Amino acid sequence: MDVIVARNRAELAEARRALGAHGGISRGTAELALVPTMGALHEGHRSLMRLARERADHVAVSVFVNPLQFGPNEDFSRYPRTFDADLEVCAAEGVSLVFAPSADDMYLPDRQVGVSAGRMGTVAEGTFRPGHLDGVLTVVLKLFNLVRPDVAVFGQKDAQQLAMIRRMVADLDVPVAVVGGPTVREADGLALSSRNRYLSDDDRRAALSLSRALFAGAERRTPAEIRGAAREVLDGEPAVSLDYLILVDPATFEEVGDDHVGEAILAVAAKVSSTRLIDNVTVTL
Ligand code: AMP
Repeated sequence: MDVIVARNRAELAEARRALGAHGGISRGTAELALVPTMGALHEGHRSLMRLARERADHVAVSVFVNPLQFGPNEDFSRYPRTFDADLEVCAAEGVSLVFAPSADDMYLPDRQVGVSAGRMGTVAEGTFRPGHLDGVLTVVLKLFNLVRPDVAVFGQKDAQQLAMIRRMVADLDVPVAVVGGPTVREADGLALSSRNRYLSDDDRRAALSLSRALFAGAERRTPAEIRGAAREVLDGEPAVSLDYLILVDPATFEEVGDDHVGEAILAVAAKVSSTRLIDNVTVTL
């Protein structure tokens, strides 16, 4: 079946009816999995589409650069928009439905109500991007309500986002099963990101120190050693301007103490030239 493209909520409702008729979605006999994205699709997104296909009869991909999750000095206007190529990727991955609304179609001009990320929205990424996680949760809940998937798939690459979405689903009784997919990396370790296309050759070399730092940290045993080993790598790369390097509890994103046992997330955010990159690995203490 060809990919159905829905450019607004009316077309989405129509597309859902078509899938319901052919695929049984609206009768509850088939399952729909959603992969929310901002487009500029790469192998990381493709891995999530494949996970989605394992979990459901039909896969929907949303392509929406959400203005609500960008700060005033961030890259909303220059964020890469490559819709034709994105559609080809979705077709190649057997996606049934692509939902690509405009901002005007998503947000009412007089909108007031949004999701508050709570305390976890104010730590780590939230310290450097105030309101970002509120914007993410608001759009994700809207996408869930519009597309009405049974399953939604997100990448561990955005670990705090994934944790917050799990929190929202639990706290607000959202009837969607959340699935996390592992981070896809280049052969040299750089985590794939739509923003990597901003990087010059020199930037890219510098950006590699993020994953090198995480891997160096992950080889150590104690929180102090893990933080120290990762920081040493980043300190050796002057072209990297660090926002944070943290070792946090996966459930709260608060820094772990020296007595922490179990999993922790070693996460980094930094600017290379004007490009802000994030990455993380899970370590077991
Ligand atoms: P984005 O288009 O950057 O908003 O990302 C859409 C989804 O793809 C999110 O759930 C991301 O966590 C996920 N994603 C982004 N980069 C990667 C990657 N390198 N590996 C796996 N998933 C990723």
